[in-house]
Amino acid sequence: MKILMVTSEAVPFAKTGGLADAVSALSIALTELGHDVRIILPRYYKIDREKLELLPEPMSVHCGFGEVWTGVYESVLPGKTSVPVYFIDHEQLFGRDGIYGTPQETDFHDNPERFTLLCQGAFQLCRKLNWIPDIIHAHDWSAALAPAILKFSERYNGFENTASVLTIHNLGYQGIYGKHKFGVTGLDWNLFYSAGFDDYDSMNFLKSGLCSSDYLTTVSPTYAKEIQNPAFGFRMDGILRYRSENLVGILNGVDTNVWNPSIDKKIPTNYTAKTIDKKVENKLALQEKMGLEVNADIPLIGIITRLADQKGISEIFAPTYGCAYNMCKDMKMQFVILGSGESWCENEIRTLQSNLPNLRAFIGYDDALSHLIEAGSDFFLMPSRYEPCGLNQMYSLLYGTLPIVRRTGGLADTVENYNEATGDGTGFILDDLTPQSIYDTVGWAIYAWYNKKDHIEKMKQRAMNQKFGWDESAKKYVEVYENALKKIK
Ligand code: ADP
Repeated sequence: MKILMVTSEAVPFAKTGGLADAVSALSIALTELGHDVRIILPRYYKIDREKLELLPEPMSVHCGFGEVWTGVYESVLPGKTSVPVYFIDHEQLFGRDGIYGTPQETDFHDNPERFTLLCQGAFQLCRKLNWIPDIIHAHDWSAALAPAILKFSERYNGFENTASVLTIHNLGYQGIYGKHKFGVTGLDWNLFYSAGFDDYDSMNFLKSGLCSSDYLTTVSPTYAKEIQNPAFGFRMDGILRYRSENLVGILNGVDTNVWNPSIDKKIPTNYTAKTIDKKVENKLALQEKMGLEVNADIPLIGIITRLADQKGISEIFAPTYGCAYNMCKDMKMQFVILGSGESWCENEIRTLQSNLPNLRAFIGYDDALSHLIEAGSDFFLMPSRYEPCGLNQMYSLLYGTLPIVRRTGGLADTVENYNEATGDGTGFILDDLTPQSIYDTVGWAIYAWYNKKDHIEKMKQRAMNQKFGWDESAKKYVEVYENALKKIK
C-alpha cells in the first residue's frame, strides 16, 4: 500500500509530545512490512534547510486565502529503512519559532492558514510526485482537514481510490477558531455544516475530521472506549459513539532502538533484566547529577512530563492543595522532576526545590536527562487526568522502573496493579485523581520498597519483560487501512 502520513510533528525533526514519536516509528514499522510510506510536514524555522534537499520547482497550493507558492524539501527518517519525508516551506507561515505557538502567543492566530497549507499541500505534493496514495493518514487536529478535503473535493479530482484514516493522539486539542476563518480552508461554505466544521459559532478542525474520515483510530483500546463517554469526550463523545463502528484503539509501540536499557548510549551503565543489579549505577549517577544525597538505599521517584493540567500537575504541585510537599516531608524518598509548561507550576516546583532537600528539578526539555531518569529511578509517577496512550510509563516498564499511574487510557492498558498477596503486577494504580490518593499510592509503593523487596524485584523482572514493539501495532493499522479501502469501494 502507498500511505501518506500528514502530520505537524515527526521525530527527529519537530516534536512537542508523543505524536512525533508515534508518527515516525509507525512509518518505519509499516515500511518494514513492505509498504511505501511517506511523510509530509511543515518546514519549521528550526529545521535546518542545509540538511535537506530542495526539490526542483516550487509548488503552487490553492488555499482559501489565495494561491500559495511553496518550496518542497526532502529528507529521510534516520534508521534502517528509508522513509521519505517532505517539508513544505513557506517563510511567512512557517518561518518562525514554535510549532503551534510560543509562550507569548500560545496558539498562533494564523494556525488555520498554516495547517490548511499543510493539508491542501499534501494533495498537491502527491500530484507533483505523481504518487497517489491508497491511504491518507492524518494525525490530530492540525492534519484533520485532510480527510474533509479528500471526501468533499479531491475524491472527484484524481484521488478516487484513496481512503482516509484520522488518528486521535489527544482529543483535548481540537483546533477551534472563529467561524469567519472557514473560508481559509478553500472548501465551499455549504460544507461548514455538512462536513462537520460547525462548533456553535466557531470552526472546529478536529470535528470535521471525526465526521469526514473513513476510519478513526486512537492510541489505546481503553481511550477508544473512554472518549465515547461525556467525561472524556471533550464534547465529541456523541459523534464518536455515532462513529464507533469505524473507531479502533491501537496501542502505540515504543522505539526500542532508542528506549532500550541494554544499548541506550545516554545512560552511564547499560543493563538487562538478567543484569538488573547494574541499574543502581544509574541511580547513583542521577542522584549525583541532581544534587541529591547519593545513597542506593533511598527510593527515588522520577517524573518527566509536560506541565499541563492533563498530567495531574495540580494534584501534585499546586500550592497547599498538591501532595508533593507532604510526600517529600513525610516519606524517606527522593523526587526528581523533569518538565516544562505552565508557568505557575514551574515556579511552584522551584519553590518546593528550595524548601525540600529530597526534591530536585530541571525545568526545561532535556532528552538525555529523560533517559537517565528512566534508568535511574525506582518508580515513575504519572497520575494523568486522561492519557490517550502515554509513552513514559512504557519506557519505565522497559527500564525496570515501576510506574505509579492512574487507571485511565493507555495507562490502564499497559500497567498491571501490584498484588500484595502474590507479588504479581508491574506497577501501582490509583483510581481517583486526588492529592490524597496520589499520596497514598506513592506511600504504598515506598512501603513495598522498604518491606517487600522480593516483590519489588519480581515486579521489575516482569516489567522489563513486557513487549511494546511497533510491529504488532503496525499490523493492526494495516487492517484498519484495508477496512477503510473496503469502505470506500
Ligand atoms: P504527551 O505526548 O501527552 O506529552 P507521552 O508520555 O505520550 O505524553 O509522551 C511524552 C514524550 O515527551 C516522551 O517521549 C517524554 O519522554 C517526552 N518529554 C516530555 N517532557 C519532557 C521534558 N521536559 N524533557 C524531555 N523529554 C520530555
